[in-house]
Amino acid sequence: MSVKESETSASERREALKEVYGQTQKCVRCAELAATRKTVVFGAGNADAELMFVGEAPGASEDEQGVPFVGQAGKLLETLLGEIGMTRSEVFIANVLKCRPPANRDPQPVEISNCKGYLYRQVELIQPTVICTLGNFSTKLLREDPTGITRVHGQPEVLTLGRRAVRLYPIFHPAAALYTPRMLQTLREDFARLPELLALGAPEQPDSTDGVRRPAPRRPPPHRGGTTTYDSAHRH
Ligand code: URA
Repeated sequence: MSVKESETSASERREALKEVYGQTQKCVRCAELAATRKTVVFGAGNADAELMFVGEAPGASEDEQGVPFVGQAGKLLETLLGEIGMTRSEVFIANVLKCRPPANRDPQPVEISNCKGYLYRQVELIQPTVICTLGNFSTKLLREDPTGITRVHGQPEVLTLGRRAVRLYPIFHPAAALYTPRMLQTLREDFARLPELLALGAPEQPDSTDGVRRPAPRRPPPHRGGTTTYDSAHRH
């Protein structure tokens, strides 16, 4: 694919992402969540990010502001990103659920099932190289396996999600690490391996037409002057 072609498809992907954003804003698939939420937290960051994080569900601060990971866990996530020389605006951050479960209860299986299509579509449109799942819910969902985070954290694997192969990298949820120093240390160590994982580039992609697997086309370099950001605060 030429640079021109991939730029065109990048703008098409951004437009499609805005459409998904619009769909989520009026979603009422989960009656209880739709009735109790203040905002729908679509996700935030760079719509062309190489690195995507997937958390669990918005908490109170996220529900207020319409932006994921803005509370204490978000501050820790930003600190850890800083330690590997990255900022939030370079990555895309989303959650398994787009709406806050009342009193921060666990997401219910039916809610995960209702919401997961939006997340898969985000992955398909953002086309990250690495998806870092934060904690049990996103790890189990994207691995399609009930094995818990304690057993799989820090172990990257190549998975095909929809039509794209990605490097999935499960790590502890920052909220769980906030008050447990040993878990924080492990999270920090796992986080420190992200740059080498990103440096590997995209894994070989499944080819839909001839069954031959090929390396993913390289992305054109980002536009000068910074990244394109997309977040829930955008109104269209
Ligand atoms: N925890 C999450 O999993 N997601 C958020 O957006 C905030 C806290």
